[in-house]
Amino acid sequence: MSTVFKKIIDGEAPARIVYRDEQITAFWDIHRQAPVHILVVPNRVIPGANDLTPGDDALVGRMVRVAAQIAKEQGIAERGYRLMINCGSEGGQTVYHLHLHLLGGRPLGPMLAR
Ligand code: AMP
Repeated sequence: MSTVFKKIIDGEAPARIVYRDEQITAFWDIHRQAPVHILVVPNRVIPGANDLTPGDDALVGRMVRVAAQIAKEQGIAERGYRLMINCGSEGGQTVYHLHLHLLGGRPLGPMLAR
């Protein structure tokens, strides 16, 4: 299965990549919703959180740790930031390739729009 994110990971679509290793790629969101808005994505296509298995536990932990490392590099770690995974249609997921949103660089307000 291919997704727009898989194309970015495979170098077939453009993106501003900030991190890459054998398991994870991170790049700037094309529709930035905060001064820092970076997506942390597993290189292997996992459609969403519902598709995770126990074998993915280390991968998901690594995604969070990589996001925290990128937050430090972007200079927002001390001020604070938000890590978010949308799941399914009511969760607002639009790309069915698991991804962790790293958002920060301004006060983000309450967790959900009221
Ligand atoms: P979600 O709504 O949680 O599935 O998030 C998908 C995110 O992917 C949105 O914030 C989009 O702006 C972002 N996005 C979609 N296509 C691209 C792309 N080609 N490059 C970077 N970000 C993208």
